Amino acid sequence: MQKTVTIYGAGYVGLVTAVCLAELGHRVLLIDTQVEKIAALSQGICPIFEPGLPELLARHSQSGLLTFSTDLSAGVAHGLFQFIAVGTPSNPDGSANLEYVFDVARGIVEQSILMAPSEPRPQGSVASDKHSKEVSRQSNKQIPIIVVKSTVPVGTSQEIKKLMGNNFNIISNPEFLKQGAAIEDAMHPDRIIIGAENEQAFQHMRDLYADLHTQLIEMDLASAELTKYASNAYLATRISFINEMSQLAEHVGADIDMIRRGMGSDKRIGPHFLMAGCGYGGSCFPKDVSALINMSEAVSCDASILQAAEKVNQHQKQILFQKISAYFSGDLKNKTIALWGLAFKPNTDDMREAPSRVLIDALLKAGASVQAYDPAARVQAEKIYDKKITYCETAQAALDQADILVIVTEWDEFKSPDFNVIRDALRYPAIFDGRNLYDPAVVTAHGLKYFSIGRGT
Ligand code: NAD
Repeated sequence: MQKTVTIYGAGYVGLVTAVCLAELGHRVLLIDTQVEKIAALSQGICPIFEPGLPELLARHSQSGLLTFSTDLSAGVAHGLFQFIAVGTPSNPDGSANLEYVFDVARGIVEQSILMAPSEPRPQGSVASDKHSKEVSRQSNKQIPIIVVKSTVPVGTSQEIKKLMGNNFNIISNPEFLKQGAAIEDAMHPDRIIIGAENEQAFQHMRDLYADLHTQLIEMDLASAELTKYASNAYLATRISFINEMSQLAEHVGADIDMIRRGMGSDKRIGPHFLMAGCGYGGSCFPKDVSALINMSEAVSCDASILQAAEKVNQHQKQILFQKISAYFSGDLKNKTIALWGLAFKPNTDDMREAPSRVLIDALLKAGASVQAYDPAARVQAEKIYDKKITYCETAQAALDQADILVIVTEWDEFKSPDFNVIRDALRYPAIFDGRNLYDPAVVTAHGLKYFSIGRGT
C-alpha cells in the first residue's frame, strides 16, 4: 500500500532511499537545505555519481512519486514517515556530530506544533514547553513515524524521543548501502534492521518495506544503532587485518593475494573485505570507527581492536608514498606523478577520507607535481585541490611526461591497460599499485618495475 514519506537530507543515503521508496510505489518528498542541490534535482540533474541513480531519478520525477523541496514545513505536512538521513560527520574528538540530526528533529517538532489544532499537550517534551498543543496527523490522524536512517551513536534515538514526546513513533533504521552499488543494495538488501519500541511501529516498517521481500530483523533502538556501528567497524577491521598481514607478507617474501585466496576459501572466513590495499576511506568507515571508539571510551569500555584497526589504516594510507619516496631515494622535487584514481573506491565520485588525498598531500609537500585521472571524481577533486594538481581527461593523458604511475582506486578501466603504452610514456618505467590490480609477472615482462601491496619485496 502506498505510503507518504518525507526524507530530510538529499545526500548519498537520502537520495538513494528516496528513489528506491518511489520505485516501491511510495510518494516521497525529499528535503535538503542546499538550495542549489534541490534546484538541480528538480531539473532532473543528479548531484552525485552513483550507477543507476540518474535513471531512477528521471523515472520518478516523471511519475510524480518523487518531489523535492527546501521547505521543512512542506516535509512535515507531507509524510507519515519522516526519515532523517542527514550527515553525521566526525567532531574533532572523533565523536559523531549530531547537530544536523537534531536540527531536523527540532524542526519537525516545532513545525508540527504550528500545524496542530489547539489541544493540551502532555508534559515531558520540548514541544510541550513551547506550546500546549497536541500534535495530531493532518488528515489521517496517524502518529508520525520518525525514522532515523543517519548513523547515530547509541542513545540518539532515545534523545530524539525525549525531544519529541509521545506524539511520534521513533524508529532506528540504519542504512547499509555501499556507494558504487547503492541502488542494488537498497533494492536488494541482505537484511533491514528495525529498532523500535512498540508493535505498531514495527508494523509500519513491515508495511513500508513489504515489497523488498527481505528479512526484517527487529530489535530495540539501542541494538539497532549499535548494529550499524558494529558492522562497519567489523568490515574496517577485516581490511586493517589483511593490510597488517600484507606488511608481514612483504617482509617475509609471501604473497598476500595467495594468502587472501587461501583464507577466503574457508567458509568461516569468506572472501569479502580481504583485499590488501592502500587503506580504507570514504564517509563511513573512518568516522564510524572513531565514533565507536569514542562511544566505548565514554562508558569506560576497552576499544583495543578498534584503535588498532584505525592505527593500521592510518599507516596503510602512507605506504604508497613511502614506496615512491624510497624509489626516488627521498628526492621527489620536480617529479611528475601520474595518478589513476581519486575517489575512495570505484563507481563513486566521493573523495571523503580517500587514500588518494593522503598521497597527494604528501607528494605535493615533497615537491612533486601530480597529474590525475579519475572517471568520476574530477569535480570533487577540483573542490579540494583547485589548481594544485592537474586533471586529465583520460588515463593515458595522465601518463604524458610523467615519471611514474601510481594507482589508488580500482576502477574497472584500469584493470587491463596496454603495458607497452605505459612503459613508453613514463620517464621511469614503474607502476606503484595500491590495489594489486595486476599479475606482477605480466607487468615486469613488459619491462616495467612493479610495486604493489604485500606481494614479496
Ligand atoms: P551526505 O553528506 O552525502 O548528505 C547529507 C545531506 O544532508 C546533505 O545534502 C546536506 O545538505 C543535508 N542536510 C544537512 N542538514 C539538513 C537539514 N537540516 N535538513 C535537510 N537536509 C540537511 O551524507 P550521506 O553520505 O548521505 O550520509 C548520511 C548518513 O547516512 C550519515 O549518518 C552516514 O553515516 C550514513 N550512511 C552513509 C552511507 C554512505 O555510503 N554514504 C552508508 C550508510 C549510512
